[in-house]
Amino acid sequence: MSPATMDLQDGRLTDEVVRSTMTNCSRGEAHRMRVPGWVLERDPGHEVVGWRDPKAPERGWLLVPCGEAVVGLALRATPGKGVRATAMCDLCRTTRSPGEVSLFVAARAGEAGRKHNTIGTYACSDLACADHVRVLRATPTLKPDPGLSVSQRQEALRERAAAFAAKVLATRD
Ligand SMILES: [Zn+2]
Repeated sequence: MSPATMDLQDGRLTDEVVRSTMTNCSRGEAHRMRVPGWVLERDPGHEVVGWRDPKAPERGWLLVPCGEAVVGLALRATPGKGVRATAMCDLCRTTRSPGEVSLFVAARAGEAGRKHNTIGTYACSDLACADHVRVLRATPTLKPDPGLSVSQRQEALRERAAAFAAKVLATRD
């Protein structure tokens, strides 16, 4: 299975394209995925786009730029209200208040995933990491990685998300 490449030359992302990027879930799951309208306004070729499914609370979705491709990942949050202490997101390195970071697991792509092999990461519960790295000044509940510019944080977020996506796609050990 190879990640979908997106043709964004006409600058338009469609619901269909978003579904076609999903690498680690069944076609049925990708078909049932809810894609909020704002997602189609984003540019997943250049930024990490993530959202929680409004109707399936344990479900989350990430679009990760990986070179020329966009890798779509289906995530599942562990039940409950997230980490019960102040915690840092592994993807955007933002420090968040209790409950605002959750443990997510992604089934590995292909055969490994069918054997229930998963990869986990702590991430912002809302998966809005791309928005959090743009916050200029820390707030009581949201402290971006200190000492870095917004563009450095964006770059680091892309790199860490791409590394996570590579682990999900690594079907051969
Ligand atoms: Zn985050």
